[in-house]
Amino acid sequence: MSDMAPLPPTREPQCVICNKSIRVGDRTVFLDGDLAHQGCSATPDELADRIEDFLYSEPAGLFCNVCIARTCSLPYQHVAKTMVRLRAVRLDLRLMIGARCSGCGNIRITIGVRPVDETLYSADD
Ligand SMILES: [Zn+2]
Ligand SMILES: [Zn+2]
Repeated sequence: MSDMAPLPPTREPQCVICNKSIRVGDRTVFLDGDLAHQGCSATPDELADRIEDFLYSEPAGLFCNVCIARTCSLPYQHVAKTMVRLRAVRLDLRLMIGARCSGCGNIRITIGVRPVDETLYSADD
């Protein structure tokens, strides 16, 4: 009865990197005119910095990639990739296979900050 075009359904904008919706208040960036979460578009160095900041804020903790991703608001795939890189270059981080994650309590592959005395021992030999 009306020839006015219906309003398009309001669609939540989507992040072009993780394909999840972007909500009000999310930190976003423009990539060639497309929206992306700020965390999704971070460079590898920025990702590494953010993960290290978190690990050093909980030096007694051991965390799985899932918990690191959730706490740092980063996509899991990015965290997993960054961890591979960090483990290769950062001797002050330790990988524990089958340790209990301090975040979710599951037995997982976890990563945490190596205690200072262990660093000293390994520098001895
Ligand atoms: Zn995203
Ligand atoms: Zn966890």
